[in-house]
Amino acid sequence: KRRFFIGGNWKANGSPASVKQLIEELNSAKLEVDTSKDVEVVCSPPFVYLSQVKSDLRKDYAVAAQNMWDKAPGAWTGETPAAMLKDMSIDWVVLGHSERRESCGETSEVVASKTKFAIESGLSTITCIGEKLEERESGKTFELLDLQMKPIAAALNEEDWDKVVLAYEPVWAIGTGKVATPEQAEETHAFLRKWLADNVSQKVSDSVRILYGGSVNNKNSEELGTKPNIDGFLVGGASLKGGAFTTIINSAK
Ligand code: 13P
Repeated sequence: KRRFFIGGNWKANGSPASVKQLIEELNSAKLEVDTSKDVEVVCSPPFVYLSQVKSDLRKDYAVAAQNMWDKAPGAWTGETPAAMLKDMSIDWVVLGHSERRESCGETSEVVASKTKFAIESGLSTITCIGEKLEERESGKTFELLDLQMKPIAAALNEEDWDKVVLAYEPVWAIGTGKVATPEQAEETHAFLRKWLADNVSQKVSDSVRILYGGSVNNKNSEELGTKPNIDGFLVGGASLKGGAFTTIINSAK
């Protein structure tokens, strides 16, 4: 059985005051699930708040960066190498989010090579994929996901997949309030599960957690979570509210 996984992607949101408040809300919230066993929780704040969140957030929640530089530390102005994250005891990194693919020019090859580098650096990754509205509407969703998955599978060996969580985030559902129906999400997750069996191995297909992301909130998470191939969520907007995020975590029971 795959351990349920809830990620909170704070994106480029927050002020010193709001981050402090969010940490307090998360720390004082009452959980109805066992975070040491049943559910894994990871929060991903902007870079400038990583050390604060790492030191002040409850210790049963892990912390993730939202990006990473896939080179050794050195003359890379403005970048944050994987080794620096590791040195700060950050264990996770989100890679290939559609906002970075779209606005920062990250190709599937870049995402694959960053994923490999992160794993070699001792980090675990939440690697993101997902189609745009025009691809869904023209029936090209699976074709596009195949194109995004191929470089990742080519870059990784079988053991590397122990360190990867896949996040399926249809771009049309991100920040739009237009959540995929549980059936739509399940259909795509099942496709990805079979893709892993056909292109990597049955073992990886059985063990890799596939998250759904895109307008997940405290009202729709429970139903989405009942689907057999949905192993958790990557939550954007609703992860900025301690109460809503905690309800999403509790819906995993
Ligand atoms: P929303 O939950 O705000 O739609 O964002 C989803 C997302 O992009 C998480 O990475």
